[in-house]
Amino acid sequence: MSRIVIVGTGQGGFQAAASLRQEGFEGEIILIGDEPGLPYQRPPLSKAYMADGMADRLLLKPAAFYERASITLRERTRAAAIDRDRRVVTTVDGAEYPYDHLILATGASTFRPPIPGQEADGVEELRTLEDAARLRQRLADTRQAIVIGGGFIGLEFAAVARAAGVAVTVLEAAPRLMGRALSPEMSAWFLEAHRAMGTDVRLGAGARRIESADGKVTGVDTSDQKVIPGDLVLIATGVRPNVGLAEAAGLTVGNGIVVDGTLLTSDPAISALGDCCSFPLPDGSPVRLESVQAAVDHARHIARRLVKGTTDSYAAVPWFWSDQGKHKLQIAGLGTTADEVVRAPGPDDQPVFLLFRDNRLVAVETVNAAGEHMAARRLIGTPKAVLEAAGFGLKQALNAAKAAPPA
Ligand SMILES: Cc1cc2nc3c(=O)[nH]c(=O)nc-3n(C[C@H](O)[C@H](O)[C@H](O)COP(=O)(O)OP(=O)(O)OC[C@H]3O[C@@H](n4cnc5c(N)ncnc54)[C@H](O)[C@@H]3O)c2cc1C
Repeated sequence: MSRIVIVGTGQGGFQAAASLRQEGFEGEIILIGDEPGLPYQRPPLSKAYMADGMADRLLLKPAAFYERASITLRERTRAAAIDRDRRVVTTVDGAEYPYDHLILATGASTFRPPIPGQEADGVEELRTLEDAARLRQRLADTRQAIVIGGGFIGLEFAAVARAAGVAVTVLEAAPRLMGRALSPEMSAWFLEAHRAMGTDVRLGAGARRIESADGKVTGVDTSDQKVIPGDLVLIATGVRPNVGLAEAAGLTVGNGIVVDGTLLTSDPAISALGDCCSFPLPDGSPVRLESVQAAVDHARHIARRLVKGTTDSYAAVPWFWSDQGKHKLQIAGLGTTADEVVRAPGPDDQPVFLLFRDNRLVAVETVNAAGEHMAARRLIGTPKAVLEAAGFGLKQALNAAKAAPPA
């Protein structure tokens, strides 16, 4: 194999290029991305960057890295089509990039629900550095911000805006915050935490229309017929995977580009990773994760397969974090199918929730409890009885497991 083309210069595309070199790949690596500039990290966009505006700190590596590693970076370059018969990617400027193997790392884009009035000045979204720079600039002149969507990104932004002294209302159509990803118990804990920060959180409140005057946003009309005044609206209602390129090339697509356990698409010359792909969990059920860990671990898995010829299935324990004000939420495992939640002892009375399914630990949610989170990553799958015997203390359970003689 002499030439690998990667489409997407986000977290996963960058990591794939870097890991291919780390594994010893000596052929050509071409990294094609439609955003301007060097690959950067997105998580700080709604956290540190929104507060300090220091864009240089976001870079995954400086320019010299790509030169040293012989990685050809094509920024501001959008891949337009894949010719699978000829094994060629064509970009919108008409250039052709032949490949022996292609990695799709096209990520996801903000999903905007069809709320009327979105064209008004002052309505923003947050996915890219460009979005974040614009939003940050506006925030400086904002008196009242309205966040549509009580998910991770909306709530992280709400916390930063409150810390900057801006009045914030969060509208969440569902009955609880971060409901797609968190246990009801942790959602309730964060509801109180955001209210304590002074944010006006309204649950079960959908946005019906964005109001404006002279083209500028003035507020949001909600499903309970109330107009909330505001001079900035952030639409944070989730994302959709970027599957258009793959779909047009005839690859199998569902909620993401469908890959097998080794992260190969329906074409054995094409892999996919990160936010854009739907991959099978060890039990076979398909999942699409929006996290740095998934993008990075997928990239490493693909690089090992391509360079070393490994054939094992991807099985890393998922983990995730979100910083909301002074609260660092960390999640290990996947709790969406849990049937029982137990509150465990945490440091300084911080919440630690253990999520079980069929009496086995499937996920752990912690706040400001790094030690418990690290232990949790190694305990996913442990029978409830074993944890119960340790008083549900995660560090104690891990120490007990280490001390136990091998079975
Ligand atoms: C504000 C914000 C905060 C976040 N916070 C956290 C967090 O705290 N913890 C966490 O784990 N995750 C967080 N995430 C999610 C995390 O950033 C993503 O899961 C991760 O970036 C996914 O990496 P990726 O490579 O799959 O996709 P991306 O990083 O989205 O990269 C995909 C790239 O492909 C480009 N692209 C798409 N189509 C084409 C095409 N046809 N041609 C060329 N280029 C193309 C896109 O423009 C983009 O640059 C956050 C995301 C955002 C936006």
